[in-house]
Amino acid sequence: MIKQIHILLTYKCILECDHCFVFSSPNAEGVFTFENLKELLYQIKRIKSIDTVYFEGGEPFLYYPLMVKGIEIAKNMGLKVGIVTNAYWAITPEDAKIYLEPLKDKIDDLSISSDKLHWDEEDYAQNAIKAAKEFNIPYSVISLEVPTPQMIKKRWKEKKKTIGGEGVIFKGRAVYRLSQGLPKKVWHEFTECLYEDLENPERVHIDPYGNIHICQGIIIGNFLKNELKEIFESYNPKSHPIIKPIIKGGPAELVKEYNLDCKGEYIDCCHLCFTARKMLMSKFKQFLCPENMYFDPAFQGNKFFIGYIPAEMKREVKFDIKEISEKDEREFVINMLKDIFGEIEFFEFNKWYNAGELDGFIGVVEKEYVGFALYKIEDNFMTLLTINVKENYRRMGIGSALLDKVKEVAKKNGLRFIRVPVSNDDLISYVFYLKNGFKLYDVDIGLCERRHGKELKGFFGLPLRDEFYLKWEPRREIKK
Ligand code: SF4
Repeated sequence: MIKQIHILLTYKCILECDHCFVFSSPNAEGVFTFENLKELLYQIKRIKSIDTVYFEGGEPFLYYPLMVKGIEIAKNMGLKVGIVTNAYWAITPEDAKIYLEPLKDKIDDLSISSDKLHWDEEDYAQNAIKAAKEFNIPYSVISLEVPTPQMIKKRWKEKKKTIGGEGVIFKGRAVYRLSQGLPKKVWHEFTECLYEDLENPERVHIDPYGNIHICQGIIIGNFLKNELKEIFESYNPKSHPIIKPIIKGGPAELVKEYNLDCKGEYIDCCHLCFTARKMLMSKFKQFLCPENMYFDPAFQGNKFFIGYIPAEMKREVKFDIKEISEKDEREFVINMLKDIFGEIEFFEFNKWYNAGELDGFIGVVEKEYVGFALYKIEDNFMTLLTINVKENYRRMGIGSALLDKVKEVAKKNGLRFIRVPVSNDDLISYVFYLKNGFKLYDVDIGLCERRHGKELKGFFGLPLRDEFYLKWEPRREIKK
């Protein structure tokens, strides 16, 4: 029976903590509109078992007026109200008072995160605590320790069941950033979910997109599509494709059920669960979302990993590569090019190429088109115009498989070389082609600037100016 709703008011936060389950950061997107927040609270009110709502995120104080309004509505409905915050706003005791005074008599718990995982030097928790005391606001402090090998081994011994877990558990960003150097156990030992009651949940998290998370990233419905009451009343864990196996035998059962290729070693049940779920995302989109809950830091802003994939970030998915032949395949290519480049005609190697007229291959995952390669055979060589893979399907080998197909065509036709253009800011493609045997042989200085009439901002915020030309020669590779 659901008793508590945790409202993820926003995914945005001023911090980007290593242990964050939901990948919050200053760049994260997603915030409740006031209309949706009101709708959620009205739906909550219609469920008698719910007595408490928490406002959290992300950092809910970033949307202070929205949070305060939501709290007032919840309080008028007779609900208990809590907030989870990192207290970034309590810079001085006086500031803390300004933020907390309007909340006095409205808050039943102010949970303040205060630890080395959140803050290095500044930690404004003391100011927030002082102001909370002054206004008689009940408060608690969440203080987590940076995980150590001793801590992990102790937890293995205790094997304690605690809803929400104690300390850092390994889902979300913690998997990427905190798992290195910690002891691990073989996957089939994780036969139990220790941190959520999936059969009889008492609390859920609800995000700005309406998703109802029984555990972060495991969805049981969407309040913007169906009434919350109905979703809870019809909740059947035994018919949920992800929850059912976890209840039966923990994340290990999830791996067995779908025969997943992640039979390695993991720190805790969540580490295996998160890894397995990431592999199932494209199969169960409706149940494993939103994407930012599984988002690879590799794709965030300037944090691209170029030319290598850390072990924790490897993802595998079954895909097919086929020749572009159908109308809808061609449409997918054209639309994706328009999305990325805003055009389908490209001036490269001193001539024009129309993407709609080129040959190519397309990558397919479970009937979804996810990437493509476009090429043109010209006399005794080939121009490879571009290879693109949808962002959430990168690092799965699809780009390399597309390139292999293109190389096969070049070899079969006895072509002397494949040439490919790469703009000066596109470091990812540059490394990709170099790693696949291409060599730089020419640079058209200022081509991008001339083409666009001005210098544009490219990937990584780099100036988009020049075009690199790279070349791959089949005969050289065969000789090796
Ligand atoms: S094992 Fe899976 S379902 Fe259970 S708490 Fe960990 S991540 Fe959530």
